[in-house]
Amino acid sequence: MKDYSEWSKDELVGRLRRIEAAAETRCTGSLEGSGGMLVEQAERLGAIVENAVEGIITIDDHGVIESINPAAEKIFQVRGEEVIGRNVKVLMPNPYCDQHDDYIARYLETGEAQVIGIGREVLGRRSDGTTFPMDLAVSEMFIEGRRCFAGFIRDKTEHERIDLRLKIKDATTRTLAESSTVEDAASGLLKTICETLGWVRGELWHRHGNDSGIRHVETWAVSDAMKSELALSEAGARFRYGEGLPGRVWESGAAIWIPDVTIDSTFIRKEGAKRNGIHTALAFPIRVRSETLAAMVFFSQEVRPQDTELLEFLENLGSQIGQFIERKQMETNLARVNRALAEKNRELETVVYVASHDLRSPLVNIQGFSKELNQACHDLRQAVDAREGETVSKDLLKPSLEDDIPEALSYIQAGVDKIDSLLSGFLRFSRLGQAALQIEPLEMTTLLGNLAKTVEYQLKEAGVRLELGPVPDCLGDETQIKQVFSNLLDNALKYLDPSRQGVIRISGYEEEGRAVYCVEDNGVGISPAHQEKIFQIFHRLNPTGVSGEGLGLTMTQRMLERQDGKIWVESEPGVGSRFFVSLPKGEAVPS
Ligand code: ADP
Repeated sequence: MKDYSEWSKDELVGRLRRIEAAAETRCTGSLEGSGGMLVEQAERLGAIVENAVEGIITIDDHGVIESINPAAEKIFQVRGEEVIGRNVKVLMPNPYCDQHDDYIARYLETGEAQVIGIGREVLGRRSDGTTFPMDLAVSEMFIEGRRCFAGFIRDKTEHERIDLRLKIKDATTRTLAESSTVEDAASGLLKTICETLGWVRGELWHRHGNDSGIRHVETWAVSDAMKSELALSEAGARFRYGEGLPGRVWESGAAIWIPDVTIDSTFIRKEGAKRNGIHTALAFPIRVRSETLAAMVFFSQEVRPQDTELLEFLENLGSQIGQFIERKQMETNLARVNRALAEKNRELETVVYVASHDLRSPLVNIQGFSKELNQACHDLRQAVDAREGETVSKDLLKPSLEDDIPEALSYIQAGVDKIDSLLSGFLRFSRLGQAALQIEPLEMTTLLGNLAKTVEYQLKEAGVRLELGPVPDCLGDETQIKQVFSNLLDNALKYLDPSRQGVIRISGYEEEGRAVYCVEDNGVGISPAHQEKIFQIFHRLNPTGVSGEGLGLTMTQRMLERQDGKIWVESEPGVGSRFFVSLPKGEAVPS
């Protein structure tokens, strides 16, 4: 025979009914000789109820608990003597609790059942106030003519736990597959986790490059008020290593659970939490190999005891998100390398084109004047040969010796010099790509002020006014950034309009995490058709007017590109030019 503990709910109900019917028959029939049998049946019934895996609670028709078996005691975390005699509502959370009296009354009046004889999934309430999902089936019974109900309960907590985990995992995989960055996926992930777990607010915190903090990136919340309020008002959008919940997750590399943030000494945003009725917080790291890149933080308005299994699950989820980030980073790096390679190819093509074009003209000159030199030598030889044995007069040789030959030689020399200067330009340009960079925060007001001093003499000579406005600090290589602004300042001076007083202005502002600088002049300006070309190697607009190689802006652009910088120009011929330089913002420590 089967152990009672293995019996299903239906078997138990059937068995109870049969015993009940048998007892009734025997009571109304011959009682003689059946007393021993009844005792045995009652004992058997008691053993079934005691050993059942399912919780069994019986109540009277007012909802008062008459009996509770050990399984139900375990499920509700109560002892029988605490609840027997009390209304069954103590084991129910709202809304079931408030509706229960009405429900029994309606059933008794109309026979309209929602659970009795049907069974469905409802929420139960443990003695500590926490709720859990359960399957409840209620049977109606008549014992000695008295109506009572037996509730059969199966705890679905574990079932629901697995279900929730699967839901979160599936949704995470789907959201990540549809996103190109973790920031893209963030809002979807926060929403999924919050909604599935029934938490009210989720935040993503991210570490950025060399930055020393962990910064708030994204929030999802059940309501607009919940999204804005608790937010960042008290602590700002950034925590240091080990500080606040995101900073502690970063430090420990592990998930953290705070059952009640309003009484937790480590939780910084207490006031906001209190204002919003928030109690429990949990946070877990998003790790790439052993490094914590980001943290996700969630808040609940209930006081929830630590769920170690959930923490472990979320830690694993964090690793899954970490792998996604790593893959995306690799893809982004690959795309960046490809773009850089394509850019280099284009640059190389330009260089080859310019080299063949610019080197060609001095070569053509050298070729032409070599022929002339040859001709002059030939004429000279003929003149000498024709007068063999005679004295050759100086006048005869003069045109070749004093004009043709020196002229040809001087052009050849100029061509050679030109080729030399072009080749040394190429060399300098190509070496630029190899120079080691030391990127650091730069205090730009001092740097530009010192630069202005180095051109003070030229400014005075040309009667030019230089205005240096307030400028933000940036991140860059000091030597190369000096070179960049020195080139721009030189050009502003070189290409001034002699017909009016020269004014050069240097100013700056911050925009979306970048420092932008502007070197402005009221010089000759550049026509729109040439504004892009001036950055090409050796490109000059007025090659004969002012000295130069056409290399300064190409070098400037290359130097900036290597340190995540950009340069562009706005200009109007006859009015002046504005050269803009954008670099990553950096906070320099004042010396
Ligand atoms: P270089 O000054 O040696 O010619 P650059 O590469 O610095 O070489 O500049 C390329 C060309 O861009 C210059 O020859 C000039 O025609 C034009 N240019 C540069 N800066 C200015 C400026 N501030 N105003 C007008 N034209 C300019």
